[in-house]
Order: sequence, then structure tokens, then C-alpha cells
Amino acid sequence: MGRFGGGRVSERELDFNTSRQNRLFAVQKQIARACRDSGRPVDDVELICVSKTFDANEIRPLLSCGHRLFGENRVQEAQEKWPSLREEFSDIKLHLIGPLQSNKAAEAVAVFDVIETLDRPKIAEAIAREMRAQNRSVQLFIQVNTGAEPQKAGVAPEELSEFLRYCRGPLGLSIQGLMCIPPVDEQASPHFALLRRLAMENGVSCLSMGMSGDFELAIQLGATHVRVGSAIFGRRNGKEAMPTEI
Ligand SMILES: *Cc1c(COP(=O)(O)O)cnc(C)c1O
Repeated sequence: MGRFGGGRVSERELDFNTSRQNRLFAVQKQIARACRDSGRPVDDVELICVSKTFDANEIRPLLSCGHRLFGENRVQEAQEKWPSLREEFSDIKLHLIGPLQSNKAAEAVAVFDVIETLDRPKIAEAIAREMRAQNRSVQLFIQVNTGAEPQKAGVAPEELSEFLRYCRGPLGLSIQGLMCIPPVDEQASPHFALLRRLAMENGVSCLSMGMSGDFELAIQLGATHVRVGSAIFGRRNGKEAMPTEI
């Protein structure tokens, strides 16, 4: 149940919910404007609401007003929250945007529709195996470590072509997109531009880039998917320490 306990929705929770819906509408408008300003059709960009650390009761208001695309960064948290929400709302689409360990591949393939954080042969092999075993197909994005940060996940830009060849060839995987998380202390635009260039050079069509602080910039630079959390849900209360960077 919600963090305020019980089945009844408190006044305070109602306020939170309306403001979340309003923030969702505001972000949708900003996306539409950024698309128009860049001469792109407004349906060119998909908004992934990043719901990590927020529970099902906090997510449901966004589902109630029609939003269906969400992102989570931990497999176990997604397993706990989403199966029951999927029973209520059938057409949900869930992206994994956090690091994946190969021993969690089975769970990830079962609970997610898109895995954005493919970044090494062992994970790709485990995913390919699980998709066959479960007779289930998930879309795949490769995470690229555009800032060459040692602590961050992702394929090095210069190793992307070879990794793609391995995924597409021996493993028979099709790769829909590339994803990046620019270094926090740098201008994001060169990273977005690099990701777009890599996608064009390698025949990949989707680009997942841009978060709450920079999704409009990312759209100008070609993003097809933006991952927006705090601009919609509010602050995460330090409940997570950016696990994507560990
Ligand atoms: C948490 C997270 C986001 C959302 O970040 P906000 O700044 O809250 O919009 C986007 N992408 C990844 C990979 C994340 O882990």
C-alpha cells in the first residue's frame, strides 16, 4: 500500500497525485515544444517516466491519466511493483535503465519490454539465451559510456561497432537503440551529439538520452526517448544514490 498506509487515499496523497499529473502534462508540453522547435513531429519522442523509488500507489495516478511508458533501474524493484500494475493496465511498456547482472537476465527478460543497458558480451549472451528460453522478445538498447568514465557502465565508443557485430551476428539480436548518461559535471551536448553520430554510423535508429535537467536539449540533438524522473515525481529523498553510476 501507499506510504501513508491503508487503502484510503489521504488528502495529502491526493494533492501529491494531482501535482504529479500536472507535472506530467507540463513535461509532455515541453517535449512537444522542443519537437516543434527542432522541426520534428511531436510523436517522434517517447517520454519514459522514471518511477524508481516510487511505489505503485504513486505511479497509478500517471497510469490513470493515460501514461503507459515507464523506466526502472533495478530488476528486483520492478518485479515487486509492476506485475500487479500490469494486471490493472494491460498495455504498459517498461524500460530497464539501470545496470544488469547476468544472473538477473531471466528476471529482466520476464519483467521488462525494453532493456537499455546492454553493455557487454556476457549480458548479451544471457539475454539472447533467456529470450529463447522464455520465447519472449524484448527490445534492446546498448549503453555507451560516452564520457569514458571508469566507474560508469557502458561500452566504450570505440568498441561499439565490434560489440554490435557480435550481438547482431553470432547472437542474432537486433539492436534498436543507443543510450547514454553524460558525466554529471560536464556539458551534456557533446555527449548527445556523439551518441547520435555513433547511431548513424552503426545503423541504429533510437537514441535514449536526456533526463529532467536536459531533455529539451537532448531532443534538439536527436533523442527519440527521454528519461524523466524528478521533473514528474519530485525529489527522490536520497533514497537512491544514482545506482547507475556505481
Ligand atoms: C534516475 C535516472 C533518470 C531520471 O533522472 P531525473 O534527473 O530524475 O530525471 C534517467 N536515467 C537514468 C539512467 C536514471 O538512473
